[in-house]
Amino acid sequence: MRPKPHVTEVTAGVKLSHPHLWDGHRVFKLEEGSVGLVAFVAIHSLRQCSWLGWPAALGGCRFKEYTSSEAAIADVLRLSRAMTYKAALAGVLFGGSKTVVLGNPKRLKTGDFLLALGAAIQEFNRVFRVGVVKTGEDMNITESDVAVMSHATAFVNGKPRFLSGSGNPAPFTALGVVEGIRVSLEHTLGPDDEPIAGRTFAVQGLGSVGLPVVHMLRERGAGHIWVSDLDESCMGKIIVGEERDAVSYLAPGSVGSLNGTEVFVPCAVGGFLNERVVAELRYKIVAGSANNQLADEKAGDLLHAYKILYAPDYCINAGGLINITHEDHPEGYNEARVREHILLIPQTLKKIFERSRAEDVPTYRVADQMAEEIIKASFIKP
Ligand code: NAD
Repeated sequence: MRPKPHVTEVTAGVKLSHPHLWDGHRVFKLEEGSVGLVAFVAIHSLRQCSWLGWPAALGGCRFKEYTSSEAAIADVLRLSRAMTYKAALAGVLFGGSKTVVLGNPKRLKTGDFLLALGAAIQEFNRVFRVGVVKTGEDMNITESDVAVMSHATAFVNGKPRFLSGSGNPAPFTALGVVEGIRVSLEHTLGPDDEPIAGRTFAVQGLGSVGLPVVHMLRERGAGHIWVSDLDESCMGKIIVGEERDAVSYLAPGSVGSLNGTEVFVPCAVGGFLNERVVAELRYKIVAGSANNQLADEKAGDLLHAYKILYAPDYCINAGGLINITHEDHPEGYNEARVREHILLIPQTLKKIFERSRAEDVPTYRVADQMAEEIIKASFIKP
């Protein structure tokens, strides 16, 4: 029989050690010595979830080798807070939480370890009692890892379709991004029946999200698309049919300073937009899936000052989050319903852009303000 996982509440200690990082509910430590499992779960906010009949929170599970427990706690606090903001703007019925697992995934992550992690999440929810806290994919936790964990816990979302889950979230993230690009173009260039048609794009990163974004842009009649990836062979993944010249490869170092291209679509790494890069940008719009695109607030202020429209990352990239929450819909997962929900993303972006223009405030600040208004009105306070 599997050893019982150990669940300890560490909220009081965290409040003392990280007073400026924590304005959330509760933090727990999960341990299971036989497999070397140490994890932290932070519940930043809860929201009454009518689908589940409980206050609930959701956020992925990140598996990473941290330099210390303190560094892991700082990360889980920051990430769970970010989930609250993302969930608020995405209109999902969950608050924000996050799980971090400490250690080297290459060394530790076995089937047995994942079952122990699932069992620890199950036990934590039993101890927590106040609501339902679910987790799922994130860095070094894949869809198939979630499938293994689901043998030991009901508190994971993002299972494969063959386990009645919502499957790969990336195509849904991509749909939200393309809809976000559409509304960004309308805001910048005026109303248009086919705002994407004939427009030019630079897509950074041709991975799980970037590739479907390129295909959807082509389907909607995009003009030329430049694609940049560290791996030049990625171009082999693009299907352009007859139009062989419609998509070209661009060396990663040149993507920031491309002249004559209208939309920059970052779908690779975070922190790319720093003051130096923003000063060189030649695009009208920045709208892509990458998390934490702005290296700092100054980069966001500069985009606003240069009149480059920035679609706040955590709003435009929420399609994957929306997708996994629909696993809990009382009538079961339904892709058509998910697609309808994702169309909230362009509506929210439109509100952000209009308020930014009316108040002359950078879009990233408006997104935070709008999220905070929703949190104040609809989330359960700590
Ligand atoms: P991925 O790992 O599948 O693809 C990323 C691609 O970017 C890879 O092909 C990589 O070679 C390339 N890349 C890395 N650094 C680069 C650079 N400097 N220049 C050009 N290319 C570079 O990742 P993904 O799932 O497609 O996610 C992309 C981004 O979107 C990430 O920041 C991720 O956190 C974010 N995001 C993804 C999802 C999702 O559903 N997958 C949801 C929300 C946010």
